[in-house]
Amino acid sequence: MADFQLFIDGAFCDAESGETFDTIDPSTGESLGTVAKADRADAARAVAAARVAFDDGRWSAKRASERAGVLKAVAKGVKDRAGELAEWETRDTGATVVKAKAADVGGAMFWFRTMAEFAPLLDEPEALPQTMAPGPSYNYLQRDPVGVCSAIIPWNFPLQMAAWKISMALAAGNTIVLKPAPQTPVTATLLAEILRDAGVPDGVVNIVPGPGPGAGEELVSNAGVDRVSFTGSTEVGKQVMRMAAGTVKTTTLELGGKSAQVLLDDADLELAIDGILYGIFFHAGQVCTAGSRLLVGDALHDEVVERLVARAADIRVGRAGDRGVTMGPLISARQLETVLGYIDVGAKEGATLATGGEQLTADGLDAGFFVAPTIFSDVTPDMRIAREEIFGPVLSVLRYSDTDDAVRIANDTSYGLAGAVWGSPSKAQRVASRLQAGTVWVNDYHLLNPKYPFGGYKQSGVGREHGLLGLLEYTEAKHVHVAIDQSRASKRWFDMTVPQA
Ligand code: NAP
Ligand code: MG
Repeated sequence: MADFQLFIDGAFCDAESGETFDTIDPSTGESLGTVAKADRADAARAVAAARVAFDDGRWSAKRASERAGVLKAVAKGVKDRAGELAEWETRDTGATVVKAKAADVGGAMFWFRTMAEFAPLLDEPEALPQTMAPGPSYNYLQRDPVGVCSAIIPWNFPLQMAAWKISMALAAGNTIVLKPAPQTPVTATLLAEILRDAGVPDGVVNIVPGPGPGAGEELVSNAGVDRVSFTGSTEVGKQVMRMAAGTVKTTTLELGGKSAQVLLDDADLELAIDGILYGIFFHAGQVCTAGSRLLVGDALHDEVVERLVARAADIRVGRAGDRGVTMGPLISARQLETVLGYIDVGAKEGATLATGGEQLTADGLDAGFFVAPTIFSDVTPDMRIAREEIFGPVLSVLRYSDTDDAVRIANDTSYGLAGAVWGSPSKAQRVASRLQAGTVWVNDYHLLNPKYPFGGYKQSGVGREHGLLGLLEYTEAKHVHVAIDQSRASKRWFDMTVPQA
């Protein structure tokens, strides 16, 4: 029996094949236990369970206000087990204690609670404009659940993202099959227990971790799935879109980014320097919204680079669970190799390495996957380190000549997920309005909130999640037209000769 099992139709079970894989603590490289390895057959079984659970109405036929009560109980369940969840998240994912508690566990609670608040809005049909022509009628919009949802998530915010997908799907009355990333499956398994204990009926939520394309491709292509929500890389997102086309599934994609932080000349540098560092080095840069490009005007450039380098030295890199550590490891040996590869590329392309640039192995870090906070200056917009998502602790600093130039450089990317402007609020908001990105922070960074929509322009994604806008994407909009005039004589169908009474 695996230490962490699949959750299908309300029961924990091993994979049909009996196969398992290990999940690793990226701070130490050690195994934390075995995980049941879902393959196509397991994913198909989970979809079938979700299909039955949706079609018999055990969840979808409840009023949204009733579903909200269960979601509140889930939020409480997360709160009751917060310590255990945060500890596992730190070990399984390399999240610092602060990140695990605030972003992962706190975020999960916040999402379930907020979707419980939004859900009852779906019970009330939305009135549409009344109309006299072509047929006198009253009209309204009813929000139905879409059906069976599948969700595929990456390894950087495993508990929070599981909560995103499950809370929205459930609030709207859907059922769901979730595939956590194989690097970070543990807290999704614990969440399954919490959902069950909170009264979510069997089959409504199913969880199938499994490395490799088998389970994932099944969830995207299975005809029993009506809606796919994918968070991950742009490359895999493109494949998901193609596979989902087979049965024309509604698809939401939350993909990669190369977000710009624009520092204006009137910024408060005390605030901006620390904010910029947080924007890139939070969770070792393994954040889809990471502000990995910093745009600085010529006048401030040298001073800003010097101050960033000085403050970056205060970031304490170490094992995620250790006291006082502010930046943990990368997720895997593979990610370490990718990030070190990009650092090499940056140096070869002619950027100046202002600080960092190396793997950290001293003081017992050699078994984990640690990279020093790294800053390149003299980066030009054509360099790969200015264009490609690195997903590690690497900041590229670019110069701009004036505000128009800053906006042009910021938007010169195939991505458009997020960004920030540091400066006086009025000027910063004018620049923010010109950025092509789904979320722009002014004098802040990384603050996502279940009350506000999130998603990408361009190749950073399709659709929005969170907020009422995001919740509505988990519904089908049904327009109902009710004729006011009930008399046959007044109908103009086919323009036939109307029989006289
Ligand atoms: P990834 O390789 O795209 O994997 C993401 C998920 O997709 C994993 O669960 C993975 O599982 C699965 N997957 C891979 N190939 C698949 C396929 N052919 N069919 C179905 N599922 C498949 O991304 P990653 O490297 O884990 O995560 C980092 C990326 O995610 C970055 O590019 C980052 O920007 C993006 N991201 C975006 C957001 C956002 O909200 N926009 C948030 C976080 C991360 P297997 O490994 O088992 O195949
Ligand atoms: Mg792990």
